[in-house]
Amino acid sequence: MKVNLGDILTQRSRISPKLEALVGEGYRYTFQEFNIRVNQFASFLLRRGLSAGDRLGILCRNHHQHVTAFFAAAKIGVVTVPLNWRLPASGLDFVLQDVRVSALVYDAEFGDTVHQLGYRHAISLIIRVGGSGEGIEFESAIQDQSYQEPPVVIGGDAPAVIMYTSGTTGKPKGAILSHNNFFAASVGTVRILDWRYRDRFLSVTPLFHIGGLNPVVVNVHTGTTTYFMPEFHPSRVWEVIQEEHITHMMSVPVMIQAMLQVPEIERVDLPALRFILCGASPVSKELIHAYRERNIQVGQVYGTTEFTGGITFWTHEMGLDRAHSAGKALFHGKIKIVDPSSGQELPPGEIGEIVCSGPQTFQGYWNRPKEAEASLNNGWFHTGDLGKMDEEGFLYVVDRLKDMIISGGENVYPAEVEAVIRSLPGVDQVAVVGVPDPQWGEVPKAYVVPKPGIDIDEKEIIEQCKSQLAKFQCPRLVEFIHQLPQNAVGKVLKSELRKRERVER
Ligand code: ATP
Repeated sequence: MKVNLGDILTQRSRISPKLEALVGEGYRYTFQEFNIRVNQFASFLLRRGLSAGDRLGILCRNHHQHVTAFFAAAKIGVVTVPLNWRLPASGLDFVLQDVRVSALVYDAEFGDTVHQLGYRHAISLIIRVGGSGEGIEFESAIQDQSYQEPPVVIGGDAPAVIMYTSGTTGKPKGAILSHNNFFAASVGTVRILDWRYRDRFLSVTPLFHIGGLNPVVVNVHTGTTTYFMPEFHPSRVWEVIQEEHITHMMSVPVMIQAMLQVPEIERVDLPALRFILCGASPVSKELIHAYRERNIQVGQVYGTTEFTGGITFWTHEMGLDRAHSAGKALFHGKIKIVDPSSGQELPPGEIGEIVCSGPQTFQGYWNRPKEAEASLNNGWFHTGDLGKMDEEGFLYVVDRLKDMIISGGENVYPAEVEAVIRSLPGVDQVAVVGVPDPQWGEVPKAYVVPKPGIDIDEKEIIEQCKSQLAKFQCPRLVEFIHQLPQNAVGKVLKSELRKRERVER
């Protein structure tokens, strides 16, 4: 079956023309209106000479113009490249050099970046959302364009999106995701989660990450309304959930942690809210329980860009006794645990590399065929994550393979050490990395962000570890730090900490 992502919107608009599709501060569009605007933007791109295979960069927050450009590009076979607006100019420079877009849609607020990088010289078509500055304004671009469906372009395995990974373990890589990949991810997700027609979804995780973009496709596919929040404000999130009768949302742990701290959580009445999905990094049992005490269900997704989003999902229906797991593989997706060196499948309970396969598996990395080849083995994608599975197919993510510390021949999983340190009341955040040691090869070092107002010292941290961990797991060094280096979705950049270590020594 060869699906075109844009055609999914055409069909939704035919089936549910009057249903609200996109909502945000100051706008409301039905699926029919959304589809018309998409056709108009597609017509504009075609008239400006774009054709199938060309790349369209999008440097925008979460809003209706962003997804209008995305679906328009998909209809005519143009490949979208969502750009991370939190990246410094040098980071964007790297991505744009790599992918070479022929058109760019950007939010006026990022005008300085666009100007600074001088991309107006290399990119033939620039479209600006709002404000003033470089390029043609979005609304002027679509004005007077045709409402008609553009000529259908075959989707299938052709690229729909080149999405750059977070770059947590190195330079970001452009994962090529096809139309069929998104279709399969959508089908697989709604068959494991309670995601339905007439639901109302809050989109606040950035659309330049798969966890932000994938749900929008699911929403169009299922007939769910998307409410866009361009910026995350924990108090406002609760108000929007109440005012807009939001049924579910996607989040990352730092977000829901912040949402717990605001007074609105105690005040709002949320009869429509069914669940908050959380992922991108481990979601602690404590966080899940803190929400449960307030009658809010937090589910967990473990996913990756290369799998077009979720690999496994845990929801409350799977049992609270499994709240410490990442859940089960989505529909049409498979997971296995293998020995990282031999590739042999390991039995339940044993720790190894998590590999996954299914129609959601990406098509390769843009410009990096060798890296794609190295990460794919007979259709199985090697996630670079360590984990184990139990007899019932629940997955437990242990840590990243690259973050594992080998100290005197013993494996130390930093996540395990971090959990012990994090349980101290004076600790706000912690990251454990391996640092070079002449005797042991590597030893664990803990970077700790203390909680304001609560005393904590190195001795207390070491004592806590000694009481709960084996000697080789205990950090030899502790450093207090003001803030951990993090990326856009709050993932700790351990590579930065390791780099820092090399510089300091
Ligand atoms: P790069 O590949 O460039 O280093 P990245 O791996 O962070 O970056 P993403 O595709 O954005 O790129 O993130 C996928 C990774 O995020 C997974 O491989 C896993 O390590 C981590 N992750 C996602 N969800 C979870 C979760 N629920 N629990 C633990 N880890 C998670």
